[in-house]
Amino acid sequence: MATPTTPKTFIIDCPWCKAKVAALEHGHGTKLGWIEGPEEPYGTTLSVGECPNCHTMLAGESHQVGFKGYDSHEDIWTDVVRIFPKPPKTFSSYRIPKVVSDSITEADRSLQANANIAACVMLGRALEAVCRDVIEKSKTPSKDTSTTAKKIKPIMLGQGIKKMKEIGVIDDRLFDWSQQLHAFRNLAAHPEDVSISREDTEDLQTFVYAIIEYIYDLTDRYEEFKERLAEKAQKAKKK
Ligand SMILES: [Zn+2]
Repeated sequence: MATPTTPKTFIIDCPWCKAKVAALEHGHGTKLGWIEGPEEPYGTTLSVGECPNCHTMLAGESHQVGFKGYDSHEDIWTDVVRIFPKPPKTFSSYRIPKVVSDSITEADRSLQANANIAACVMLGRALEAVCRDVIEKSKTPSKDTSTTAKKIKPIMLGQGIKKMKEIGVIDDRLFDWSQQLHAFRNLAAHPEDVSISREDTEDLQTFVYAIIEYIYDLTDRYEEFKERLAEKAQKAKKK
């Protein structure tokens, strides 16, 4: 007698159940290959399945990080990160520093693992890096950068938020959101017994996305818009 086959599952965060679930797999695709240049193997798997509780369709991505016979005794894959629904946020501006995008990716992964305290720390790190970048770029270059630049202590989150408001990079509302994030980040960063809800963490994540979008993406877009108008005006003059 044939033994009944157990359905294949994969562990993924369900945004509606707000929990890690063993999704019933409906299908998957795996691509393995070799990256030329750095000369290293890669592997990616896309899995599609269904939440066993709410029956929402879920899709996630996993990357191979250990390759049997190459750099590991066995094949090792990362946890599945959800890409549908609610895919990880992407931004369009090329000016966003890598430390900012790395921190928001890390925050999202923590949130999907229900590690809310870790997510708050990472969101704070993202905003702190935004502050440093924006304030650094707003300074008029001093002549003697070699010696003075090294002595200046990097700006901290609380100070950075105030400075961004002072120089008009953020308005009152974004300032308030930033203050909230600062408070939660401080709570999360200190070794005391705290709990932060997923709901609050998701809200803070939305605020950080809005701040980054406002400072980088929307500013880029507005600059491009103004350039187009100026070009049109130039052409009209020549006629
Ligand atoms: Zn669900």
